[in-house]
Amino acid sequence: MRKFDNFGEWFDNTLFDAEVMDSRYPIKGFSVYKPWGARVARRIIGILEDQLEATGHEPALFPVAISEDAFAKEAEHIKGFTAQVFWITKAGDRRLQKKMLLRPTSETAMYPMFAKWIRSHADLPLKLYQSGSVYRYETKATRPLLRMREFLWNEGHTAHKDWDGAEREVKDAIRIYSTVFERLALRYYILKRPDFDKFAGSVYSIAFDAWNPDGRVNQIGTVHNLGENFAKAFEITYEDADGTHKNVTQTCFGFGTSRTLAAVIAQHGDDYGMVLPPEIAPIQVVVVPIPYKEVENKIEDYSREVYEKIRAAGFRAHLDVEEKTPGEKYYHWEMFGVPVRAEVGPRDLEERQVTVSERVDKQRSTIALEEIVPAIRSLLAAVTKSLESKSRSTLESMTTDANDMSSLIAAIRDRKIARVCWCEDVGCAETIKDESGGEIRGHRIDVEEKPQSPCVVCGRRAERVVYVARAY
Ligand SMILES: [Zn+2]
Repeated sequence: MRKFDNFGEWFDNTLFDAEVMDSRYPIKGFSVYKPWGARVARRIIGILEDQLEATGHEPALFPVAISEDAFAKEAEHIKGFTAQVFWITKAGDRRLQKKMLLRPTSETAMYPMFAKWIRSHADLPLKLYQSGSVYRYETKATRPLLRMREFLWNEGHTAHKDWDGAEREVKDAIRIYSTVFERLALRYYILKRPDFDKFAGSVYSIAFDAWNPDGRVNQIGTVHNLGENFAKAFEITYEDADGTHKNVTQTCFGFGTSRTLAAVIAQHGDDYGMVLPPEIAPIQVVVVPIPYKEVENKIEDYSREVYEKIRAAGFRAHLDVEEKTPGEKYYHWEMFGVPVRAEVGPRDLEERQVTVSERVDKQRSTIALEEIVPAIRSLLAAVTKSLESKSRSTLESMTTDANDMSSLIAAIRDRKIARVCWCEDVGCAETIKDESGGEIRGHRIDVEEKPQSPCVVCGRRAERVVYVARAY
């Protein structure tokens, strides 16, 4: 498949041809979502926000500008982000007395306000989220959706009475993200990042690394337990029931909307273009009339009847009556990734049936009109299932065990994700990066994997089974 042979070109072409994004915007790292891409992105955000709301998180909208004073408060945080900051230093022709920055993430926008809002234990937990854009001056080569200087995301920020409360929230956030990604049929590893690679200012970080056809993993979500680090820096305290004053314990989590969209396209797409999971397809079923001489009007009427029946059942349907050949329409909607196509030709008219074909395996079948609604329901479910199983088997075949450095180097060169045993020494992690080009991404938290061999670098006793890959 072309996407595995030349991912970069395939991806760029698919984004352009399926009208997801137009990357000709004249600022590097900034791009335009076209209506089809914007609709898909909004559906992803919608699923996530519904999950967040259902678990007691509330929306908020914080400013995009952050003061330098607030940004500088948490020492580790500033160290981690400072190289990527876009500064606002001038307004009109005046140099600003106090410069500001565009949020690279919103801890330092939100937490000064948390300090004002949280007074007593009755104010806790505080669980907020916002969907928006963040800005990071990426110095590596930018890539549409995968590595942008402005990207769409959703971030959650919570404050709790104690460590246990924060730990429960971390589990909830992991469950929420997993639910969303499963509904998009994505496959990934849930990894606890090694200490040297955790979020700047956190106690520990959990990340979702999705596979990508070029072997570089795509971090689509992260969940962090911040402990009391930011509470101390921003003086976010509360009065407990017994009258004592305590620091809150915090979590934050980020869902990469742009990157999740990239993962959907990269994992499910094929030589014909995008393949959209039914949950986020702006159109789930496209009805295409196949005109035939003398019965054109009858076919169009019957097509409309088919369309109305599907639409009335609650599916997102579209009747394509444009002045194009059926072949051109098939090509177009395949490129756009519409999961199910319903064709209506003279024979279908005669038999009061519909010829349906699904986008993943391109299976065609004829269904009696009376049966069309349940048939489409099961077809859409089958599409999601098929996408999930294909993605799962690709991730399995992409992952390989490496017991020594030469097989690790070969695995990364062959665009694989390598599973290795590691002693947890930072020096060994650096050796892995220098020699193979892959990074230690962390160890799995959903399955326990015990090291069966010594550290792949130094040969000492291994503490962890970790995953090594190149990354976006
Ligand atoms: Zn070692």
